Amino acid sequence: MAEADGRTLGDEEVAAAERVIRSGMLNSVWGTEARALEREIERMYGSRHAITCSSGTAALHLSIVAAAPDPGDEVITTPITDFGTVAPILAQNAVPVFADVDPADGNLDPAAVAELIGPRTRAIMAVHLFGAPARVGELRALADEHGLTLIEDCAQAWLTELPGGGLAGTTGQVGCLSLQQWKHITCGDGGVTITDDDELARRMRLFADKGWDRAAGRSHAAFGLNYRMTELQAAVARAQLAKLPGVVADRRRTAVRLAEALEDLPGVRPPRPEGHSWWLFPVVCPDGDAPELAAHLATAGIPARAGYLAEPLNRAPVWDAPIYGASRYPLDGYEPNPCPQAEALVDRTLLVIDWNENYTSEHVDLIIQEMTKFRARP
Ligand SMILES: *Cc1c(COP(=O)(O)O)cnc(C)c1O
Repeated sequence: MAEADGRTLGDEEVAAAERVIRSGMLNSVWGTEARALEREIERMYGSRHAITCSSGTAALHLSIVAAAPDPGDEVITTPITDFGTVAPILAQNAVPVFADVDPADGNLDPAAVAELIGPRTRAIMAVHLFGAPARVGELRALADEHGLTLIEDCAQAWLTELPGGGLAGTTGQVGCLSLQQWKHITCGDGGVTITDDDELARRMRLFADKGWDRAAGRSHAAFGLNYRMTELQAAVARAQLAKLPGVVADRRRTAVRLAEALEDLPGVRPPRPEGHSWWLFPVVCPDGDAPELAAHLATAGIPARAGYLAEPLNRAPVWDAPIYGASRYPLDGYEPNPCPQAEALVDRTLLVIDWNENYTSEHVDLIIQEMTKFRARP
């Protein structure tokens, strides 16, 4: 398959980077680009606050800081995600509790989450996996019932739409976005959190800037790190943000064609297209032959992989290792929960096909042809 390059970097990003360099101000504390990017994202998402930072992982760290778990408190999350979802939980000395997922799309199963809520639970972190809308309406209801913070990891879900309207990232108290190289849009690395809550926004802004309340002089109001986005990142991200609606529309057009064509193919379950923003194109193979199908597609030159992860995060080697120095605090005696649906997806039934905005009908036809050929084999 001819390489379809999914990046949209061009003259607009070059001009943006040049504008910043010629201005002589590369730092967002004194520049204008990061603040302008925040206003643009607030407008796009209809959020009261957008806060830029250095990566998606940093954005998720800010969201955990906003949720303010005490050391040893628990955060319920999914075992099928990037480690950037989980690392911030550990960074705040909290305990990740893995809940099982819906076998149809790999997103958190609200019933599994409900069973794990206990006296130490402080937050729920949902991930809109591959761009498919997670069931955040049900999770927000659970969070409200138990006084928890719902965080939405939208790193793979720029402009994902929720049932009934609204964008992924606006149902929880905090939404997190990533601008890493391979996300829908990029500035190399970068992150943004969105929230309607003034107090959560204040905590996140302080933590991203060394706890420094700039209005109060050289005075530190809270513990924080330096998670600031640079002006170069922000200027490039602004040029990319302008292209985002087109990027998502182009991904949707071709992905919906493939999803419809796969409806009738035995042995594969295509994703539900509603609201999906197609970071990748996931397929569930209920017979457990995703590794064989991935190998077949790869041989035909179609970039596809089985499982997405080497192992679901509840089975990652990190849980047997020390966390700080020789200490395992707060994980002494910790055993991640078994998550049989997530384990079956990663081990046998989940296939992910790379997707991007430059896929054409010819790419889609080739994928359909090769998947049909695989199914027809003796
Ligand atoms: C990419 C990603 C992250 C981490 O974002 P970075 O910008 O790479 O730090 C977190 N969660 C999910 C679901 C991701 O895909």
